[in-house]
Amino acid sequence: MSRLIVTTSWDDGSILDLKLGELLTKYGIKATFYIPRFSKRITPMQNIDLLELAANHEIGAHTVNHAHLTLIPQSDAKAEIEGSKFYLEEILGKKVKMFCYPFGEYNEDTKQLVKTSGFSGARTVKFNGLKDIPDPYEFGITTAASNHQSDESGEIARYSQAVSIKSLSDWEVKAKVLFDLAIAEGGIWHLWGHSWEIDDHNDWNKLERVINYVSHRPGVTYASNGETVDTVYSRS
Ligand SMILES: [Zn+2]
Repeated sequence: MSRLIVTTSWDDGSILDLKLGELLTKYGIKATFYIPRFSKRITPMQNIDLLELAANHEIGAHTVNHAHLTLIPQSDAKAEIEGSKFYLEEILGKKVKMFCYPFGEYNEDTKQLVKTSGFSGARTVKFNGLKDIPDPYEFGITTAASNHQSDESGEIARYSQAVSIKSLSDWEVKAKVLFDLAIAEGGIWHLWGHSWEIDDHNDWNKLERVINYVSHRPGVTYASNGETVDTVYSRS
């Protein structure tokens, strides 16, 4: 049997992350929640909520102000990255190992800053299929918990089977088909989304069906993003 890791990540920090975290925990699915200090999103979490979420899931940094890291001066980018780590570690009382680039925007300088700030990996919004990738600071995703965020054209070529991913307009169907493929081929199945979006689209039942579908499978490792990076990239 090919080795498969199932991981999920959720961005931007909303009070709805608590509901999402509970749902994932119910099915034994691990997650990383990437949370900026300040965000224009609907109701943010308070410190006590962050601690509650952190009891079962990983918290990752997402800058201080959800900044466009490639568009601001390097010194500001540094402050955004380091500041977000410090902020979360003060609240959580433990090391924050993972980072996520706001808007998926990064370049070599950004990657270097994330590395030297002490993060062990960083998540992008690149659709990397099911493959391990060589760089932990360009950790990609497999599929989105939304019908509107998928880089369809870039995605298609990545699957060895002629699964017509493009024809799968419903994210539930797509997530399940990709999971079936992942079971056969191994690798990383990484679901990504936003709790506010699940709520906006009334997708809680849909999400629960997907989570149920991928849960409790023999031989599958369920891991946070940080644990996935540790497992995949500490081999050398
Ligand atoms: Zn974000």
